[in-house]
Amino acid sequence: MSRTLKLYKLQTIDTDIDRRRIMLIKIGKLLEGNSDVANAKAKRDEAADALKAVEKQRDDIRHERQQQEAKRTASDKRLYSGNVKDPKEMQDLQAQIQSIGSHLETLEERQLFVMEEIDTAKDAADAAQAAFEKVRDSYATEQSKLTAKKQSLESDVEKLRIARVAAAKALPSEDKDRYLKLRKLKKGVAVSKIENGACNACGTSLASGALQKVRSSSDISNCPTCGRIMHTG
Ligand SMILES: [Zn+2]
Repeated sequence: MSRTLKLYKLQTIDTDIDRRRIMLIKIGKLLEGNSDVANAKAKRDEAADALKAVEKQRDDIRHERQQQEAKRTASDKRLYSGNVKDPKEMQDLQAQIQSIGSHLETLEERQLFVMEEIDTAKDAADAAQAAFEKVRDSYATEQSKLTAKKQSLESDVEKLRIARVAAAKALPSEDKDRYLKLRKLKKGVAVSKIENGACNACGTSLASGALQKVRSSSDISNCPTCGRIMHTG
């Protein structure tokens, strides 16, 4: 195996590892959380609270109606008990019964109105709950897919690391140092394959004479434009 082929093999493995690491970082961020779920949950809670508020209004009205009805019954009872002799008290009782009656009518109207509001709030709460469940379920599906992808990438990286140890061992230390320095300088790509007479990394075409020289030499040559180690394959 030529020197540059050994370097190229190491480069291929490192590139494969780099790609997977980038994907793992992206997946990690996606797994951290999803604001759509939190938003849908907040809307669901808001709608549920709104429903509870109008239901409380209905209960309050019901309670007040019961109290007023009990009061009217007591006044009726007193009025027709035969014990009230004083005309002033009789008048007062009649006025009170009448006033309670009209108050009860108002309460009944308010209750009807609140019942309509409950229907509307219930529909909104049901819709918000359904929307939340949909978002939550799709997020759960996405999460399980992402988790599976993450595990597969991690297992790839593990295998690649083992292969990398072997590929790095096969290199003379001088070549390895050169490779590592260049990799730092050249955004992770230290070795470029020359295909159809051009550098794969930067696209520079090499004159056939120069290419022939690179091929025949046992020395390592760098691309005249991007400076990467050339592997003619
Ligand atoms: Zn180049």
